[in-house]
Amino acid sequence: METKYIFVTGGVVSSLGKGVATASIGLLLKSYGLKVTLQKIDPYINVDPGTMNPYQHGEVFVTADGAECDLDLGHYERFLNNSLTRDNNITTGQIYYSVINKERKGEYLGKTVQVVPHITDEIKARITKLASQNHVDVVITEIGGTVGDIEGQPFLEAVRQMRLDYGRENTLYIHLTLVPYIKAAREFKTKPTQHSVRELRAIGIQPDILLCRSDSWLTGDERKKISLFCNVPQEAVIDAVDVECIYEIPLIFHRQKLDQLIIKNLNLDVKEPDLEEWKLFVERAKSPSRNVEIALCGKYVELRDSYKSIIEALYHAAVANDARLKLKWIDTERMEDDIKLGNALAYADGILIPGGFGMRGVEGKIKIIKYAREMKKPFLGICLGMQCMVIEYARNVCGMKKANSTEFDDHTPYPVIDLLPEQKKIKNMGGTMRLGNWPCKLEPRTIARKIYGKDLIQERHRHRYEVNPKYIKALTEKGLIFSGRSPNGKLMEIAEIAGLPFFLGTQFHPEFTSRPLAPNPVFYHFINASLKGS
Ligand code: GLN
Repeated sequence: METKYIFVTGGVVSSLGKGVATASIGLLLKSYGLKVTLQKIDPYINVDPGTMNPYQHGEVFVTADGAECDLDLGHYERFLNNSLTRDNNITTGQIYYSVINKERKGEYLGKTVQVVPHITDEIKARITKLASQNHVDVVITEIGGTVGDIEGQPFLEAVRQMRLDYGRENTLYIHLTLVPYIKAAREFKTKPTQHSVRELRAIGIQPDILLCRSDSWLTGDERKKISLFCNVPQEAVIDAVDVECIYEIPLIFHRQKLDQLIIKNLNLDVKEPDLEEWKLFVERAKSPSRNVEIALCGKYVELRDSYKSIIEALYHAAVANDARLKLKWIDTERMEDDIKLGNALAYADGILIPGGFGMRGVEGKIKIIKYAREMKKPFLGICLGMQCMVIEYARNVCGMKKANSTEFDDHTPYPVIDLLPEQKKIKNMGGTMRLGNWPCKLEPRTIARKIYGKDLIQERHRHRYEVNPKYIKALTEKGLIFSGRSPNGKLMEIAEIAGLPFFLGTQFHPEFTSRPLAPNPVFYHFINASLKGS
């Protein structure tokens, strides 16, 4: 079977959940036994989102091979239950970077280098490379932004050309739009959808399928109208209705036979679908028998997308523990007062401090950790959260007053967290952290060893600073356990405190490998311990 290409575009407004819709289509096709991969195109000029502020972009997702990616890659991995690579996310920055490099090498043989065909050829090559590299049946490419954005034009032009290159039976265009409900008129409005499809057609793309995001189910009349004005058959007008649990979306599409429609359009050779495990997960997620409240203490709390994978990982772990996840958002910049802190955290079953950069909110984090340790609350510190756990221990248990990370205080008398010599030499900020999968050896008879159930693990990293080897002896003598270390013993990857219900920090990000059907063990056991105390 030839590789099939599906393109997902978006219209009207952003934030309609195009990433989740794309991931859902991926999961559905995979359930038919097809080999599927998902790809995100980001039309911005940054080479990757690694240098962007979380408020600009939300979380930076990290792949096993160390690429800093768009957070939609997280949805893709969670729905597909597969690990993706750096080739699964492309940006305008990467495309131009490579075209300009080729031009400098003289590879264009004296030609004028232009958007069409040189930029569009480079884009197409990045899409088809995924197919040839992985021998997949279907590549699903999501184009970021909305139709009409200036920066998205070359990508839309490239995917338009792909139908010419590969034929109608091998390409499919799916367009996600918004069908707003106007309360005053008591009506759904289809005009924005009509306009956005008209804009796509002006570029030369006639969508084959429309996904209509709406608050509630569309009626037959609206479907007819959309079908007529947008030139799409009625059965290809699919409702992407709002749901409480994002993992239900593939099932909603399945009920409307979106999968069948794609299979028919692309003439795909498939087996019977198997969605049983997924259905079971969604059922369990919707009716848990108890609650678990986790205090998520960070500095980007106004933008929940900054902690996307952490929220999902907590959710997977809660479902596996038969619990409903309640999140309490704590802004660490407002937590420097003890009474306020006690009031905010008293009812939390567990406390989580996620990763972060820069010193804003760090003192609040350290206070929260002291509180958690003294009150014996289950605690999980991730990356910066673990570094703060080590600082707190150094200051309050080992008597190292003013211990700190050199990221926040260059003159601290006890730099318990510091840059390794190789990081000190680095000048460029983009893509130069310790990134992606690194092996970690677990010490026998520790919580870490027990929860992972094996001696050697691989988890994903994204940081510059490390526990300073000079202080390991002093910290461990006072009871801090480094239960996970790099195989050469030099890098401290997991810290824990014995005798407490669950008190653990990881230098890596366990949230990136958590999947609905396979929660990450660190999150699973953190939630489990939090439930025991409640
Ligand atoms: N700022 C810290 C470092 O670079 C932690 C990074 C993180 O939490 N991802 O090491």
